[in-house]
Amino acid sequence: MNAHDTERISGLLLEAGYVQALVGSEPDLVVFNTCAVRENADNKLYGNLSFLAPRKKSDRNFQIAVGGCMAQKDQDSIIKRAPYVDVVFGTHNIGSLVTLLERARIEEESQVEIKESLEHFPSTLPARRHSAFSAWVSVSVGCNNTCTFCIVPSLRGIEKDRTEIDILNEIRTVVDAGAIEITLLGQNVNAYGVGFGDRGAFAKLLRKCGEISGLERVRFMSPHPRDFTDDVIAAMAETHNVMPHLHMPLQSGSDQILQAMRRSYRRDRYLGIIEKVRTAIPTSTITTDIIVGFPGESDEDFQATLDLVEEAKFLAAYTFQYSKRPGTPAATMAGQISDSVMKERYDALHILQQEMSHEVNNQVLGTEQEILVADHEGRRDDGKARMTGRTKDFRLAHFTIDATDVLRPGDAVISKITKASPNFILAEERPISIRRTRGGDATEIRSQERSAENGSTAIMVGMPTLSQLKARS
Ligand code: SF4
Repeated sequence: MNAHDTERISGLLLEAGYVQALVGSEPDLVVFNTCAVRENADNKLYGNLSFLAPRKKSDRNFQIAVGGCMAQKDQDSIIKRAPYVDVVFGTHNIGSLVTLLERARIEEESQVEIKESLEHFPSTLPARRHSAFSAWVSVSVGCNNTCTFCIVPSLRGIEKDRTEIDILNEIRTVVDAGAIEITLLGQNVNAYGVGFGDRGAFAKLLRKCGEISGLERVRFMSPHPRDFTDDVIAAMAETHNVMPHLHMPLQSGSDQILQAMRRSYRRDRYLGIIEKVRTAIPTSTITTDIIVGFPGESDEDFQATLDLVEEAKFLAAYTFQYSKRPGTPAATMAGQISDSVMKERYDALHILQQEMSHEVNNQVLGTEQEILVADHEGRRDDGKARMTGRTKDFRLAHFTIDATDVLRPGDAVISKITKASPNFILAEERPISIRRTRGGDATEIRSQERSAENGSTAIMVGMPTLSQLKARS
């Protein structure tokens, strides 16, 4: 969600006449789009800000803006700690950034503007999309749940749904511009429709995506198990371009911990959903998110998570060590877990999941898979090139091509899988077929346009590291 907001911020600035800084040059404006969900977000932000302070002191035309969840959360305190910041804007008023920068310049004073409710639906703002062949499309913002570890509801507000017609128009626009893959985004994507009283709206939306000519791959994230209904599974199974992959956060395999997290499903329901998905779509894969060391997690609770991981056979699990988010109920709960226990459990879960991932990847050995070439280049090896992409069921795949084969991100190959590891599958022979796609054409045109524009090839998405900033200064 934050990365998609960054695309909006870039789009707004470009539309207002800003030009992307040349690689290696000193930018006149740095915008931090922060994420309070990430661990250590404040330290990283203030570290980056103090690195920029000397530049700000010596160049009054240089501007710094801070947006995103941390700005929404900390508001005035950012200016107290870093008074040289020009603009602080929140998650609900991304559209005000350009005006605030202008006002800060004219009034020579920091501008803080945080709105408690959404000013523009982010998708009505222009976007500078990161990829030419693959696009994110928001279906909703905000969340009506109250998970006790999560800061999102207090920062992004209650769920607001876009109309189906708006969403489909945006999808058609990005597909017309060359995208062949879209990911529907929402904090709780399958609750889509609750705002206008249609519980079946998300399944209907998936089916409508199936009618869009030229759209090859449809994904969505993240659904909540509580709202996962059979009509969504049927729509996934029956819509030709909805991919056979489900990313559904588990968080814990223990019913007690799920209750303490205020996640309103239990392990049986979770396992029941993935069984139904696998019955309806036998080739599907499941990935998940898991938090280790939530307050009060006993050895038995953690064992319940390990048992579920073994049973569920996830392709991948994104695992996190619980860390307090100030302002959330879990931050003050009794039974906080020590760092050493947390690490022990995290390592044990990682080892088990690696085994599971390896087992799941072994299942496709010897099969032919369609791989969509990813947005980064392959590495050259003995006159051969190895490239990377994703299969339909979201496996990370490396595949070998001859040095003479010309493939662009967004093109597709069919390759035979000859090796499997926990983290990827590998095709060691040349592809059985190579397909140049509209997505590949769009990538090629985009890269020509960007080279002509300013010699740079990418928008920096996310918070820069100190080393990136140092490299740029
Ligand atoms: S459903 Fe997701 S976004 Fe909503 S409160 Fe829970 S963790 Fe946060």
